[in-house]
Amino acid sequence: MLPDKLRRLVQLLARLPGVGEKTAQRFALFLVQQGDYATALGSELALLASSIGTCERCRGVSEIDAEGRFICHICRDTRRDSHLLCVVARIQDQIAIERSGAMRGRYFVLGRLLSPLDGIGPTDLPLTSLGQRIADEGVEEVIVATPPSVDGEATALLLAQEIEKLGVLVSRIASGVPHGGDLEFADQVTLGRAISQRRGISTTR
Ligand SMILES: [Zn+2]
Repeated sequence: MLPDKLRRLVQLLARLPGVGEKTAQRFALFLVQQGDYATALGSELALLASSIGTCERCRGVSEIDAEGRFICHICRDTRRDSHLLCVVARIQDQIAIERSGAMRGRYFVLGRLLSPLDGIGPTDLPLTSLGQRIADEGVEEVIVATPPSVDGEATALLLAQEIEKLGVLVSRIASGVPHGGDLEFADQVTLGRAISQRRGISTTR
């Protein structure tokens, strides 16, 4: 019933997180009726892949710089405490912690958590890049801010074991973020407190 081009647009929109077929169709029809908006959105999207990428230091999001490199504004900020590094699972978690204002240091985004059930083991995590970053920047403390879920805790323990080998202090954000909960949805005060009340991780059990 829909023209092919429009059906293709609906299919693409339906792949966005939280957008189902019906919503995608509503978006597509809206775009058809709002030509100027559709053109503006289209040109932004066309530029996205070439101008926004993964920060080569923290693996968060970054805009391309004049030299064609992707280094985000947090990694560039010289007022940041370079001895303090906060490891998070996802970019959304980095954004949530940054919004809390409690983190003076910089970040490292893992991109995924250990998950034996999904076949994700230690070799699937960017541990080499993390170790390199710690060495390059003279990091003295790593705050592990993975979520308080089974996978998040397992990842925290693995990170603690690996980072301790480098002679660097490792701490874990305090509880307060509900167990199994998403850092993204924790309020700023809770997140700020979880960071300021962090504790050392014991790797000997
Ligand atoms: Zn960065």
